[in-house]
Amino acid sequence: MQNQSQIRNFCIIAHIDHGKSTLADRLLEMTGTVEKRKMQEQVLDSMDLEREKGITIKLAPARMQHKSNKTNQAYTFNLIDTPGHVDFHYEVSRSLSSVEGAILLVDATQGVQAQTIGNLYVALEQNLTIIPVLNKIDLPAADVEGRKEELVQLLGCDPEEILAVSGKTGEGVDELLEAVAERIPAPEGNEAQEPRAVVFDAHYDDYKGVVAYVRVIDGMFKKGDGLRMIATKEVSDIIELGALSPGPNPHDQLETGQIGYIVTGFKDIQKCRVGDTMTLKSAEVEPLSGYKVAQPMVYAGIFPVEGSEYARLRDGVERLTLNDAALAYELEHSPALGYGFRIGLLGMLHLEIVTTRLEREFNLDLVVTVPSVVYKVFKRSGDVVEMKSPLEMPDPTHIDHIDEPWAKVDLITPSDYIGNVMQLAQERGGIYLNTEYISKDRAILHYEMPLSAVIVDFYDQLKTISSGFASMSYEFKEYRTADVVRMDILVAEEPVDAFAMLVYRNDAEKVGRRIVEKLKESIPREMFVIKIQAKVGGKIVAAERISALRKDVTAKLYGGDVTRKRKLLEKQKKGKKKMMASGAGTVKIPTEAYLNVLKR
Ligand code: GDP
Ligand code: MG
Repeated sequence: MQNQSQIRNFCIIAHIDHGKSTLADRLLEMTGTVEKRKMQEQVLDSMDLEREKGITIKLAPARMQHKSNKTNQAYTFNLIDTPGHVDFHYEVSRSLSSVEGAILLVDATQGVQAQTIGNLYVALEQNLTIIPVLNKIDLPAADVEGRKEELVQLLGCDPEEILAVSGKTGEGVDELLEAVAERIPAPEGNEAQEPRAVVFDAHYDDYKGVVAYVRVIDGMFKKGDGLRMIATKEVSDIIELGALSPGPNPHDQLETGQIGYIVTGFKDIQKCRVGDTMTLKSAEVEPLSGYKVAQPMVYAGIFPVEGSEYARLRDGVERLTLNDAALAYELEHSPALGYGFRIGLLGMLHLEIVTTRLEREFNLDLVVTVPSVVYKVFKRSGDVVEMKSPLEMPDPTHIDHIDEPWAKVDLITPSDYIGNVMQLAQERGGIYLNTEYISKDRAILHYEMPLSAVIVDFYDQLKTISSGFASMSYEFKEYRTADVVRMDILVAEEPVDAFAMLVYRNDAEKVGRRIVEKLKESIPREMFVIKIQAKVGGKIVAAERISALRKDVTAKLYGGDVTRKRKLLEKQKKGKKKMMASGAGTVKIPTEAYLNVLKR
């Protein structure tokens, strides 16, 4: 049994792209956990989509052994690599509650960014020991001295505490391994007590069933032990347990202070909830403090283009929720789109990832409706209902008022872009609070903003207007009253449910105009004139028309070629069939059109 004094548990936290996964590669390699010749870049990013997009979506634990050259001691390091994008903040907070320390990694060419600060605050709330590290010092643009000053200001630490490394070349990583051993406190669980572990992640494996990722707080778990989940009261027997290094490495036991995996024997992931405390069947122990349940920030409807694919969509959604604690779903039916789901998500990147996975892994064609935040509708009758979709909007005559969620938003930007950033925030209805300087030439602007304005494409716009230099973080603050109305989009006189949305009354005309123009660009012409209209209440607020196609196209066919003409007409017929399936009445609306409208 290993003495707890030789265990070190830590996360790497950073803003997206500051090099967490690459540094994790070097740690795994330099401790001999993964052989150099088997090393691939960002080895902990094991999902296809992670590798393709070059981002980390899921947290990933890995255990390694480190022999200190200074003290000659042998240590066990349990590392958790975390995602950096604001949508996946929830993964980070769970990782942080399972460790004693964090490497705060900052790209020396970019400096402190919004998620650096957002994640740091969570780590400090958990009383973690922070090791500040500047990364990418191999790059000519790295400004180690300048960035050190930022970190000193942010952390109030001594400049000597800040390490400088290159996750790419491995420079400085030896010193970092020593610093982890020296500075991060060992776990202090009670070895003699009955076992308790906190579940910080869980996934469903086709062969093994539910696999829990746990941090053992007290006592130890052994293969074959009968386990019990305190919150769900479910019991089972431990089939296998061990360490991830980074692939599963079975052991006989999981000891006090360790991080590892447990094959629970559960077939249903609901029985083994993230944040729950695991103990033995027979044990009488207090639950460990869990986590907040992930709160979806945004909802969108997803429907199969072909109604017959509904069953496959249901399978897909169910499968994805097995491994994604933050994904919520409920059945939805729309007269035009048929059966589908309203899914709750953490943000737009989350939506993109979920829909991409459904389309690819389950071979589906999807219609995604305009995403919406959760509104609270106060009815004249005194009832208050949550509204996650514009289609749920009650008759306006029954509504007293509607509240919408607001967020606290921090925007970090170089001074040169402050003007642009403020203008964008103002356009999106932001209320300016104050400015703080983190260095001579970089500032944090504090705002309050409607959540609906933050989630859609604010992040992309912020990147565009700041040449990529500004960054943001946000969190839900409170509900405030808003003057919102339902806007319908009609194509060929038929309302298209997927485009129904809630807009501020004052913005209705502007938004309506933008959408009908976008649609005009993306809907192919038909043999008849297509009217595109935006309608609020009984009133048309914007309209466009797409002129008829028939004459122009057949004219190009030199009039005489009957077979070609027939083929064309045949094609148009087929197109018509498909557009019926897409639920748009008589006009085909291509999937790109939906996406075009969703993006501003
Ligand atoms: P993460 O989002 O924090 O996990 O960042 P990644 O590890 O995925 O790295 C983001 C990008 O930065 C990748 O293209 C890496 O190859 C690159 N990168 C990471 N560390 C270094 C470094 O030390 N030097 C250089 N030159 N590039 C690095
Ligand atoms: Mg990563």
